[in-house]
Amino acid sequence: NKRITLKDYVTGYPKEEDLLLGSSDLELKVPTGSNAVLLKNLYLSCDPYMRGKMSKPVVKSYTDAFIPGSVITGYGVGKVVDSGHPNFQAGDLVWGITGWEEYTLIKAPEFLVKIKYTDVPLSYYTGILGMPGLTAYVGFNVISSPKKGETVYVSAASGAVGQLVGQFAKLMGCYVVGSAGSQEKVDLLKSKFGFDEAFNYKEEHDLNAALKRYFPDGIDIYFENVGGPMLDAVLLNMRNHGRIAVCGMISQYNLTEKDSVHNLFLIIAKRIRMEGFIEPDHKHLYPQFLELVIQYIREGKLVYVEDIAEGIENAPAALIGLFSGRNVGKQVVLIARE
Ligand code: NDP
Repeated sequence: NKRITLKDYVTGYPKEEDLLLGSSDLELKVPTGSNAVLLKNLYLSCDPYMRGKMSKPVVKSYTDAFIPGSVITGYGVGKVVDSGHPNFQAGDLVWGITGWEEYTLIKAPEFLVKIKYTDVPLSYYTGILGMPGLTAYVGFNVISSPKKGETVYVSAASGAVGQLVGQFAKLMGCYVVGSAGSQEKVDLLKSKFGFDEAFNYKEEHDLNAALKRYFPDGIDIYFENVGGPMLDAVLLNMRNHGRIAVCGMISQYNLTEKDSVHNLFLIIAKRIRMEGFIEPDHKHLYPQFLELVIQYIREGKLVYVEDIAEGIENAPAALIGLFSGRNVGKQVVLIARE
């Protein structure tokens, strides 16, 4: 059973060598009397929050650190090959937290979600129909309190979450601008996802000026994925009563000394509401989200771009690549076909 373990806790930028490919002996059946489920992992999801789990735990977070030497975990899609649980049978397709390995014995299968619709790629359950999808839905539709005609800015806009936020905002009738780190991504934002405008933040020496160019009358909603100097520039360009949905701050995850944000005082004068949120708090919205989004996918109202690496050997590079922007769209690893 090939698997990926964490070599040791990481400080600074993670490297491919921080994750080790090895194998374990795993009997491919559920132990007698156990209510576990044995999963054959089909797709593994690469998500930025996994970086936090590679650090030595100093403060209690909403998610526990990985244990060096043990298999790492993350979201994935799998097929049940054996089950001791009354709710699951061999052949069921599920998504949820699994191990980064070929087969995983899931001891608490209650947390797995059975896949209801299979007329879309199964990998979508790591992205548009999984955790990043619900994140975009909640972050935009609930936390941002959007109204038709408002101006919306999305950073890390071509990624797993950002590409959907932009599309949700267009469906709401907003003016939407996204930023991303390459020309290829900028082109995708405009041609594929329907953003009104897009720019490559790496080519802007003055982010404040760039935002003024696209938002001469200011930003009503900022969907924050990046943090640091980008947040500072956005604060200068927010409108009165604007909202900042703080989803992530990927520019800060690998810094041992976090960037200072200088313009927070503008929250007062501009009466900005800045609110952090995490997807696990909103799981109850998943059923309504799923029905809406599957319909939009079928009608062609939502599209999704994935970047699929093949084989567990390539999983470490795929995960680490998130922090240099190597991924174009949602980063997934194909482990096995059904
Ligand atoms: P993405 O698919 O967007 O992949 C990460 C992208 O971030 C990279 O492709 C890169 O794109 C960009 N990036 C990396 N480093 C930097 C940097 N230093 N400055 C600016 N951009 C950078 O990831 P997700 O869509 O999965 O996640 C997006 C954000 O949402 C992250 O901050 C993540 O932590 C957060 N998140 C939060 C959740 C919650 O519950 N609150 C749940 C899921 C995600 P580029 O080429 O454009 O630089």
